[in-house]
Amino acid sequence: MRAAKTLISNLSEEAGEPVVLPAHLLPVALQELLDTPRTAAQQEFIDTLPIAIALVGLVDKKPAILARNRAFLELSNRRPRFAEADVSHELCPGIALPLLPELESFLPGDERERSFDMQEGDGISGRHFAVRLSRLNNGESAPPRCILSLIDRTQQVEGERSLRSQMLRDSLTGLPNRAAFAEQVEQAMANHEKEGRNFAVLLVDLTRFSRVNEGVGSLAGDELIITVARRLISALRGGDMLARLAGDEFAVLLNVADNSDEALRAARRMQACLSTPIRLGELEIKIDCAIGVAMMSAAIDDVEDLIRNAQFAMKRAKISGHAEVYQPCDSTTARERFGLETELRRAIERDQLQLAFQPLIELASGQVIGFEALARWEHPEKGMISPAEFIPVAEESGLIIPLGRWALRSATRTLAEWDRKSGSPTPLHVAVNVSAVQFQRDDVVSAVKAALTESGISGNRLKIELTESCIVSDPDGIAKVLHAINDLDVKIAMDDFGTGYSSLAYLQRLPIDVLKIDRSFIAPMLEDRDSVAIVRAVLGLASALGMTTTAEGVETQALVETLVGLGCDVAQGYYFARPLPADEAYAYFRARNA
Ligand code: C2E
Ligand code: CA
Ligand code: CA
Repeated sequence: MRAAKTLISNLSEEAGEPVVLPAHLLPVALQELLDTPRTAAQQEFIDTLPIAIALVGLVDKKPAILARNRAFLELSNRRPRFAEADVSHELCPGIALPLLPELESFLPGDERERSFDMQEGDGISGRHFAVRLSRLNNGESAPPRCILSLIDRTQQVEGERSLRSQMLRDSLTGLPNRAAFAEQVEQAMANHEKEGRNFAVLLVDLTRFSRVNEGVGSLAGDELIITVARRLISALRGGDMLARLAGDEFAVLLNVADNSDEALRAARRMQACLSTPIRLGELEIKIDCAIGVAMMSAAIDDVEDLIRNAQFAMKRAKISGHAEVYQPCDSTTARERFGLETELRRAIERDQLQLAFQPLIELASGQVIGFEALARWEHPEKGMISPAEFIPVAEESGLIIPLGRWALRSATRTLAEWDRKSGSPTPLHVAVNVSAVQFQRDDVVSAVKAALTESGISGNRLKIELTESCIVSDPDGIAKVLHAINDLDVKIAMDDFGTGYSSLAYLQRLPIDVLKIDRSFIAPMLEDRDSVAIVRAVLGLASALGMTTTAEGVETQALVETLVGLGCDVAQGYYFARPLPADEAYAYFRARNA
């Protein structure tokens, strides 16, 4: 008992003699330690702390709790698992199993601090903690001790999870949406590679639906979509997946043995089940659909490729009137693409691309705070080519690297020109889009540095917009690059948020300053309560994570008002201005901020 007392008094001293306890006294000593406060005042002090903390040391080379506060005790009581038995229970009461190995490696080492996340218990009933171990500075010879703190993040994690499941569902039909479908196809591609399991992607497009919709009104149109979804599902087998990609566009992920016959049979079943007219009140409506099929093959390594192939097949299906399977020769467009690639290369070399600038409006003040730079290509014969068309070509051919470097240089140079025009630095920044491909293949940090040096623009006036696909492809690599960019004081915006795969929990670890909420959530807000709920949840989480928010694709005054009401920080969209040539953009800024 005396030994235990020594150990107790030892805890409150800064540096003490290492204490050696006779083995047979250990359980008793520990028991007493846990129950006996050092001094009432000290215990009272640690009990007032709102987070669960414990003092952990090595006893007989095993981590043991030497003292804990009330919050920690409550945690153990609420979750019996925290004290549940395992072999080391005798020595480590109160320490949850996942913590043991961490403590075992931390205590004898010389790391000052370690933070990690821990899940305790599985499934829905599991709880999530942010754990931090901080070493106590107790002198060279004293036994190692640390403060263990646990912050319960369960609510936040669950909030994210339910937000995510909302984001992956089409609110009208309850079917998985485009993002969920892409995720599932990605999974199927992984299985294909590992286990050789084959599958097909079918795109189903309702023909003339928009006309029907206009005729019967959108409410009846919704009912029609729901009926179509039900019928399509009835034509599928257990493991297949039906998703709704857009208004009248569905997609199927179909497990098949090896050839396309099976997929074509499924397509015919789907068409057959739509052949009976659908009753809508007084009306009977006949719905037709065109189906394009793409088979998975070794040559495909991207979800988008597979969907594009199905789209090629769909084009033929619309002409032939029956389901079609993608044939590699379908890509006459592939040849066109090659032509486009050559021309794009030339355009970049001859400096024929331009940047357009779309204002970013701070909602609280109504002022322009910056511009997003968007690439424009005016082809001598074909006229304006949309970036939606040439950026993918640039990404496939590697031309995105010179293009991306050009965009960084050109955007910062334009900002420097505006500064000169106005006689002093403008209160503006430019946001430049950087493709995932560029993050993979180029040294983005040096490209950013070069642009800043050349233009003389300071880092805090440049923002890099990246998409979630950057993060998914190489999470560790990207984290390093983003931190290096952040070290240049350059801010980072997550573009098109909500359309990709990354979780907010993950984003939290990256130095992301701005979440740009994708247009597909903003545009339907006025008609669709689900979208409002999603945007509200995203705004709440973003502010909890210390990020600012930008709403994309704001086209009406009513949307602006809704967004102001929800506390969104910045808006961008046609309501304020379209992307403008540099001179007009500058004039817009002068007029609006006058
Ligand atoms: P993004 O980064 O999401 O850019 C926003 C797109 O939404 C722009 O299309 C913009 O014109 C459009 N937009 C803005 N406000 C509204 C609105 O109120 N309503 C509607 N319907 N649309 C709006 P844009 O310029 O055609 O660019 C398309 C995409 O091409 C961009 O999407 C971006 O992903 C990519 N892109 C453009 N320039 C570059 C570039 O320099 N580098 C890279 N890597 N990608 C670029
Ligand atoms: Ca963007
Ligand atoms: Ca965007």
